[in-house]
Amino acid sequence: MPAWTIDRIPITSLASGAEVWLALHELRGRRGDGPTLGLCAAIHGDEAVGVEILFRARRMLEAQDLRGRVLMLPCANPLSYAAITRNTPLDMTNLNRVFPGDPRGTFTERLADAITSRFLSRVDALVDLHAGGAYPTVDYVYIENDERLSRAFGSAWLYRPQDLYPGTASGVTRGRNVPRNVPSVVVELGGGDIDQSEYVDRGIRGITNIMRTLEMLPGAPAAAPPQTVLTELVTIRPRTGGLLIPEITALGIEIGPEALLGRIYHPQTFEELETIRAPFRRNVTILVHRTADVVEPGSYGYMIGNLDSATV
Ligand SMILES: [Zn+2]
Repeated sequence: MPAWTIDRIPITSLASGAEVWLALHELRGRRGDGPTLGLCAAIHGDEAVGVEILFRARRMLEAQDLRGRVLMLPCANPLSYAAITRNTPLDMTNLNRVFPGDPRGTFTERLADAITSRFLSRVDALVDLHAGGAYPTVDYVYIENDERLSRAFGSAWLYRPQDLYPGTASGVTRGRNVPRNVPSVVVELGGGDIDQSEYVDRGIRGITNIMRTLEMLPGAPAAAPPQTVLTELVTIRPRTGGLLIPEITALGIEIGPEALLGRIYHPQTFEELETIRAPFRRNVTILVHRTADVVEPGSYGYMIGNLDSATV
């Protein structure tokens, strides 16, 4: 049975003296040469379900007849993972906006630089696992530079943005800093203060299917479910903070014009502060709050896709 090895990548030491390092797991297949697939999670530390998906993927892959190699970075930003925050608490920086990083920069820029040189620049395909965060739950996959591989993850909803964010990990693998156009799949799956087992199972199935598509695992890829490609996906951020009581909690459902998504109440007086409504004529829920949650002004409230401009 092939065995994983762990490379311990030093980053720096903190004022407390604590060492910061990244564990990069490597598994070489017994079926010989093939592509190197990169798997990573927790670039945003409040998206913890990706860490569990990779925890289970590590065990699953050990028993497989693998061709090629897997490099796995299960917890890309350990400080924000520990703090359950999107940004690194040390410098309040979003790691996924500063790639390829800077070896002489801020803490988060140095972290990005190490991830670029030790991980992203060594992979032939990338699956970067994201989620809704500590409270919201999300379900879609970006189409960046390899639609077939994005579809192979098996999510029903895909999103092809007009402009991709600068400074992302997949921006490195797609192009500028490596001479290849490495197929890059960014997954948004799960999150929220709910049972994650459905999303963990789907994550494992998605990774398996991507690896079958890359011919790294034996067997034909499973057929994808009916899939819809969104080209318009808006993030609705609450104007006020407070207690969000959701009206719609289901993901991937069609809702009509002006449909009520949720209400925000003052947590002390219970005064209604805001109602949040769907923006399009035909809407689909892509990110929702499955439970009543605390929100701040500008938090992720909802992500809603426009079905009128979607394609299959
Ligand atoms: Zn994220």
